[in-house]
Amino acid sequence: MCLVCVCVCVWVTGVCVCVCLGDWCVCVCHSEEGYIPSNYVTEKKSGNLVQFVWYSKHVNRNKAEELLRKEDKEGAFIVRDSSSPGAYTVSLYAKSTAGEGGAVIKHYHIKETHGRDAPRQFYLAEKHLFSSIPDLIEYHKHNAAGLVARLRYPVGKQDKSAPSTAGFSYEKWEINPSELTFMKELGCGQFGLVRLGKWRAQHKVAIKAIREGAMYEEDFIEEAKVMMRLSHPKLVQLYGVCSQQQPIYIVTEFMELGCLLNFLRQRRGGLTLGALLSVCQDVSEGMEHLESNGFIHRDLAARNCLVNDALVVKVSDFGMARYVLDNQYTSSSGAKFPVKWSPPEVFYFCKYSSKSDVWSYGVLMWEVFTEGRMPFEQSQNHEVVALITQGHRLYRPKLATPTIYDIMQLCWRERPEERPSFSQICLMISSALEGDAPP
Ligand code: ADP
Repeated sequence: MCLVCVCVCVWVTGVCVCVCLGDWCVCVCHSEEGYIPSNYVTEKKSGNLVQFVWYSKHVNRNKAEELLRKEDKEGAFIVRDSSSPGAYTVSLYAKSTAGEGGAVIKHYHIKETHGRDAPRQFYLAEKHLFSSIPDLIEYHKHNAAGLVARLRYPVGKQDKSAPSTAGFSYEKWEINPSELTFMKELGCGQFGLVRLGKWRAQHKVAIKAIREGAMYEEDFIEEAKVMMRLSHPKLVQLYGVCSQQQPIYIVTEFMELGCLLNFLRQRRGGLTLGALLSVCQDVSEGMEHLESNGFIHRDLAARNCLVNDALVVKVSDFGMARYVLDNQYTSSSGAKFPVKWSPPEVFYFCKYSSKSDVWSYGVLMWEVFTEGRMPFEQSQNHEVVALITQGHRLYRPKLATPTIYDIMQLCWRERPEERPSFSQICLMISSALEGDAPP
């Protein structure tokens, strides 16, 4: 059984997108949502490709070439079914390659390892093996690693959004704690210890054990039902809760490389401008999904984003600030209140909105382009309030081009309604990526 997969349901013909946990899956089939026992659902062999913007099932080699030529962009690519059944090909367009003159289109077969007892793995270039095709694609979005270009622009599908599983009523969201096993410690946060674990001895998950007195638990458990419906490739998925015990556990998607802030700090000097922008793009996409569902994060910052082993950045801890039982964190004059990430309407009036998230997103962009520096490093919170009120803003990081800094500044407009929405930010980041310097 998979946790999030494309599954074939036995009584609904066709391919459905399902989120499965415990004995139940919630499946979206032909735009209808339904609740299906997990033993009626099997993982489709190809993995969950249909939900990805880069996958075009019915595109052959000639059609792929035609689409890529029409797009005429360095790194334009399509993942399609190969002529040999069950296999996939990446068709990739590169404008200039040394010695080959003008544009070239290369077709790379996605190969699979066939170890006897080992799980199968996928690769394009020999050295880089991945447990799934989406992971492989994510990696090559950032690293050409033997390909003629990195995979920059998916071409083909018009509708770029992944199918949403929002709208179902998830009654069976409780996870049986006896089905969890604990492995190593991952970190410690506001709510308590986070550990790596396995669900049903198979699926890696992150398990947060909530320290007694750290959270408004009942309110959170109620809200968790809503949060579980928020499902997007750039949001850390909430799988469920063990709420019938103390401490309660929150079970989420495991992100191998941990929090974004440490990731940036550890790789100082080693990330290209394209890689930094792509971090911002991931976060903007996750936030766009929250915005379109009317869900406010309230504490967006690099420390609250996580990175997986395919170098995908996902937004985490959305909405959790409301359940913190700690005055130092919740009161705007408290020492732990994220003043440096907050717009004036939040530190003065606690007025949260998607537009206050946009302000925080601008600060997160600044954290990314300073490779993890502390904003207003030399200033105390009350001094930052005064500076912002007087119209001061964070300086332009050395790595940020004027265009990138312009986006940050739009996010820091005093009047919330003058800030861009996340859907606008997504477009701005995409066009900045198009004009970005070579990696
Ligand atoms: P809290 O919400 O209690 O403040 P955090 O979410 O900040 O806790 O988690 C603390 C640390 O644990 C993070 O900085 C990160 O290193 C690690 N961590 C948390 N969630 C995950 C996860 N899903 N995958 C991997 N590591 C995680």
